[in-house]
Amino acid sequence: MAYSLACADTGNDCAFSVTTSTENELMQHVQMHASSAHPDMEMTPETTAQVKSLIRTV
Ligand SMILES: [Zn+2]
Repeated sequence: MAYSLACADTGNDCAFSVTTSTENELMQHVQMHASSAHPDMEMTPETTAQVKSLIRTV
């Protein structure tokens, strides 16, 4: 099983997507991407929860 997330699904106009084998790894990629590409997007507990709800398992 793999974990996948498209940045566009979080409401950003962005082509970034990531697929990893663990949820923790996915969140690390998302946080790195958010801080470099969306510096105004704060990774609050609410944002993190929203992102987690958008993760697709494939
Ligand atoms: Zn993005």
